[in-house]
Amino acid sequence: MADAQIFAEVEKKIDALRKEMIEFQKAITAIPAISPASGGTGEWDKVMFIKEYLQQKGFSGIEQVDAPDSQAKNGKRPNLVLRMPGKSSERTIWIMAHADVVPEGDLKKWNTDPFKVMEKDGKLYGRGTEDNQQSLTSAVFTAIAFKELNLKPEYNLNIILVADEETGSKYGLGYLLEHHKNWFKKEDIIIVPDSGLSDATQIEVAEKGIVWIKFTTKGKQCHASLPAQGINAFKAASNLVVKLQQLYKIFDKHNPVFEPPMSTFEPTKKEANVPNVNTIAGEDVFYFDCRLLPEYKVDQVLAEIQKMCHEVEKEFGVQIEFETTQQEDAAPATPADSPVVKKLKKAVNAIYGVDAKPMGIGGGTVAAVFRRAGFWAAVWSKIDDVCHQPNEYCVIDNMVDDAKVFANICLQND
Ligand SMILES: [Zn+2]
Repeated sequence: MADAQIFAEVEKKIDALRKEMIEFQKAITAIPAISPASGGTGEWDKVMFIKEYLQQKGFSGIEQVDAPDSQAKNGKRPNLVLRMPGKSSERTIWIMAHADVVPEGDLKKWNTDPFKVMEKDGKLYGRGTEDNQQSLTSAVFTAIAFKELNLKPEYNLNIILVADEETGSKYGLGYLLEHHKNWFKKEDIIIVPDSGLSDATQIEVAEKGIVWIKFTTKGKQCHASLPAQGINAFKAASNLVVKLQQLYKIFDKHNPVFEPPMSTFEPTKKEANVPNVNTIAGEDVFYFDCRLLPEYKVDQVLAEIQKMCHEVEKEFGVQIEFETTQQEDAAPATPADSPVVKKLKKAVNAIYGVDAKPMGIGGGTVAAVFRRAGFWAAVWSKIDDVCHQPNEYCVIDNMVDDAKVFANICLQND
């Protein structure tokens, strides 16, 4: 059979699996896999269900890697790998999805039970249906389609189902790379379908560095009518907030891969100070969120911030302490011309008829964990991006057609 014919067969097969995909989504949504850090018991039940499901489908190459976590059910955070040998084992196509979901949040904002899927207007509503079960289902059913057609992918196809993506990946990809880094090769195709745009055009290849800072400004509390008797911490801190905007000028490089194309420096959270209007606050606490282009290091920014704090201390007679509550330099970017990007572009164009572009984003995805370990991972999926929100949903067409994208990649022989 010619390549086009084979792909048409696979497409037909995936379309025929649509109902099963929906049933699978319903079943896994009913097993909430919430991290202990978010008040749940972990992924055990959900992952065991998926493992059995795959075993019943006749898959044999399933490996389970448990990361110990005393807080979780059975003291374990299970990670699963499904291995399908390809025609060539020169390289491996990895598709990685995560099993955990975030908690449902405010139930009053949901129109339906978050853990019981409601199907309506071509969408599946429920917690986790989009993040990350849409892609999890697409990936699993790509493998099922190949299996049922008795077809081999061009290269090995390995599907990884990780734990703990939502709360830091320590028990998930972090654990796998710590203990099984040798599974992965530099030339492998690593796809993390956990972010994307509703028109399918975003291939995320780079992320900004991130630093969150807590500023505590200490002055002296006094009555508001006698300001000279105190030191107004809120006023000094406000001055610092304004001064910090100079960071945009100091770190002003542009990189068109990113949206937005520059580093960002924004004051965000503000803690309450005094409860009454006629008291001058002796202490003020605010927070700052910076996203840095890979051109800059977190330490460079912190050095500038230190200087600004000293200036405000001098001018207002306050003491300013700052500490980072999260800090990470940008991971090295996946090159825009790397095989994973090329394959994704080709497949996305074949299925969706659009031109997908390599892009950088400000938020962190788990792909950065791969990139820090020296592997070129790309993030792609076609989603409406309603993850973590009440009334989260998955567009059924996206779930089915993304599987065709994965299948197309599996059939590319370059
Ligand atoms: Zn996710």
